[in-house]
Amino acid sequence: MSLKDLMTMAKPATELRFKALRNVWKDKPLDCLQCMRCTSGCTSLKLLELKPHEIVDLVKFGLVEELLASDTIWTCSTCLKCKERCPQMASPYDLIMSIRNLAVEREAKVPEHYMKAVGNILETGLVQGIQKITTRKMHTLDREALALPKIAYPGDRFKEAFMKALGGG
Ligand code: SF4
Ligand code: SF4
Repeated sequence: MSLKDLMTMAKPATELRFKALRNVWKDKPLDCLQCMRCTSGCTSLKLLELKPHEIVDLVKFGLVEELLASDTIWTCSTCLKCKERCPQMASPYDLIMSIRNLAVEREAKVPEHYMKAVGNILETGLVQGIQKITTRKMHTLDREALALPKIAYPGDRFKEAFMKALGGG
């Protein structure tokens, strides 16, 4: 059953609605006019089962439970175009981030690649390891061969600060 089918049977959840909106009041999501400018510029549109303007509408009506359990909130590429394009200065982006945080708070399943990124940050301070490139002539080059400066890895103080930010230190 698709997320849209589930929504037809969904019931509003007042408390979850409040929690989803509590950190984004300044973006005035309730002022959304459903003009769809956000959706028409969304870079993840083909991947999103629900469109940014629909996500705003669902939160407005308290249908948050189904969003929390869906892949939709994790598919947004965080490009911020919806925020830039909105004539009401509402921000589907910030709302989606708020719902992601709520999902983590409720220990919902987080996609594996996010956990991998957190693991990489903890281990190296970088979201992903330093990559090599392959040229059209199939030569593999690292940063040194490209005369690029070395990347300094953050020290232990970074790890401490990161763990503190995650609430584990
Ligand atoms: S651009 Fe803004 S006002 Fe228009 S639908 Fe999107 S969030 Fe709502
Ligand atoms: S921030 Fe997310 S929802 Fe907004 S336009 Fe970019 S991909 Fe779409």
